[in-house]
Amino acid sequence: MALVSLVFAVGLLAGIAVTSVDMSALTASAHATQAGQDEPLVSPTEARERDFYAPNSETLAPDEMRIIACGTGMPYTRPAQAAACFLVELGNGDKFIFDIGSGAAERISAFGIPYDYLDKVFIGHLHGDHFGDIGALFVGGGVGGRHVPLRIWGPSGTTPELGTAVAIDHMEKMYAWDIAGRLGQTDIRGFTTEVHEFDYRKEQIIYDENGVVIWSFPAIHSIDGSVSFSLEWKGLKFVFGSDTYPNKWFVKHAKNADLVVHECFIAVPDLVAKLRLTPEAALQVGTQIHTAPEAFGKVMSMVEPRHAVAYHFFKDHDTTGPILERIRTTYDGPLSLAEDYMVWNVTKDKITERMALINEHVWCPPMASPAVAPDPNDRVGYSPEIEAGRLDVDDVIRPIYEEASEALGREFAYPEK
Ligand SMILES: [Zn+2]
Ligand SMILES: [Zn+2]
Repeated sequence: MALVSLVFAVGLLAGIAVTSVDMSALTASAHATQAGQDEPLVSPTEARERDFYAPNSETLAPDEMRIIACGTGMPYTRPAQAAACFLVELGNGDKFIFDIGSGAAERISAFGIPYDYLDKVFIGHLHGDHFGDIGALFVGGGVGGRHVPLRIWGPSGTTPELGTAVAIDHMEKMYAWDIAGRLGQTDIRGFTTEVHEFDYRKEQIIYDENGVVIWSFPAIHSIDGSVSFSLEWKGLKFVFGSDTYPNKWFVKHAKNADLVVHECFIAVPDLVAKLRLTPEAALQVGTQIHTAPEAFGKVMSMVEPRHAVAYHFFKDHDTTGPILERIRTTYDGPLSLAEDYMVWNVTKDKITERMALINEHVWCPPMASPAVAPDPNDRVGYSPEIEAGRLDVDDVIRPIYEEASEALGREFAYPEK
């Protein structure tokens, strides 16, 4: 019994879902000891069921939802955690990105998903830690095989300059040189955006395609213009909070949902000790702009989700315990303390949580649609001054064209200078 309690407590501290604590191994072990049998409990040669998620290794069932934490951290960048980003994959093939904070595009790439399928991004608010990597997905996806526009949904602001449409328009302008430099060199059809800015004040459906309905509803964070989202599909409901002070709209829309992701900020003492905020700033940021752990718990006790997910804190050995203790003063339901690469599979019957093991040296995913060859006439080219600086390396470059022509049985003309 003491051992069972210990496993349970360790599970809690590690942020493992309470519901996923598995006693069967202990039971099997006890039986074996009692029987004194010689037969091994596991085969020395046969593969066992994986207890982690390996990208591109599991087919999603037609009624299954997979949610991947691609960013769970904060505006302070760190290798261990990207900033806010949750990727939702549905059994009908649709995929949705909720927030894309700084560092998140790298995490998304780890899953090897063709970029044509990563064309829908929902931004909850325009803090850098929630949309700072939109440019990395725009460019990285554009060169990586996205041949369709990047579709972006995001809130309006109190003035046009504070809204999503202006922000994305400026992002594209920021990449003017990047895009001009690719004209006629590669397939750049993916270097376009389709922006859907919606009224942040309304509770409304902002997406309704292919059996998937996404709602936006107001959040309270920093200034006007933050929202939260819910996604409904085949009787399953995923809710994503972006950033917010506890609010009535979230409780209403998240009530009894299947997987509910809500921010949970670092406890005030650690904001002072580790982030070196003044006590005044720590209290303001940690309890008024964001959701303190105790308040996160209170929200979840009202929401009563099948499974609650807390994110938006640096999850370390010395921060996890205090955050969990504070949450548990107000919420005793199923809970994950999220970290990057945590994966949930959700069906009507079951919610499982695992960590993904990823390949840090992953290359581009396969393309979902064929690339088209560039038209040399589209190239911007160089001024005579820069053109004149070329060294003569034709003798070593020309054979590369000949090698390609021979290998592929087509004639690749060497460029005229
Ligand atoms: Zn924020
Ligand atoms: Zn944030």
